[in-house]
Amino acid sequence: MKKHRTLFIFTALLSLALLVPACKDDDETPADPCATVTCENGGTCADGTCFCPDGFSGPNCEVEDPCHEANTNNEWGYDDFGGPACWNDVCCGTGCTGDHQSPINIVGAVPNSNLPELLLFGSETTTKIVHKGHTIEFEQLPGTYLEYGETENGLPAQFTLGQFHFHAKSEHQVDGTHAPLEAHMVCRNVWKNEYIVLGVMIEEGASNPFLAQFVDHLPTAAGQEFEEEELTYTPSIYYLPTKAISPTPAR
Ligand SMILES: [Zn+2]
Repeated sequence: MKKHRTLFIFTALLSLALLVPACKDDDETPADPCATVTCENGGTCADGTCFCPDGFSGPNCEVEDPCHEANTNNEWGYDDFGGPACWNDVCCGTGCTGDHQSPINIVGAVPNSNLPELLLFGSETTTKIVHKGHTIEFEQLPGTYLEYGETENGLPAQFTLGQFHFHAKSEHQVDGTHAPLEAHMVCRNVWKNEYIVLGVMIEEGASNPFLAQFVDHLPTAAGQEFEEEELTYTPSIYYLPTKAISPTPAR
């Protein structure tokens, strides 16, 4: 009986020994293809391939879409990241493909007598100049407004000037050419929450008396501002005299 037990144990050991190489074979199956793959920016690996989150691409998700940061933070700029190519999505979310989105190259614009007259009614304001990071804004007291078109009741549609600011070089182009400076007068119809931004291209020439009085007061860093109640002026497009652009650009 004891001999049989020994034999059984021996047989069992032998079986175990024979199984060991089989186990070793299992260890030699191909390594996890993701073991040596590092997916950046939150990408996940499957079968050795990185699957990247929105806004990233490349073998290891190492390439950021130039518009990703702009879309995420609703921020925009002028360089490669968040630059003009991204503005459609920044302003409107994905899928906004309107052909009037800034920046526009206005080609072959001609006067259109069918358009309503554009009138600006100026009212005196104090001076408050704010450096917004992207631009320098001249904030306005209420009182200056544009009239353009009519309301449903047949009354002139009024758009109040909230601020004007500058872009250098110009944001838009006329016939493929930038102006060195462009002023934007941002006017809002509070009832319809609609905006008209009146753009004025400014060309280099003699000193502009209106702008010259502010040059020494322009804030130089984001967040800085200059405010002077005694320095008053009345906004007018004639202070920014050069080339007014058509409100309905031809494309
Ligand atoms: Zn602007």
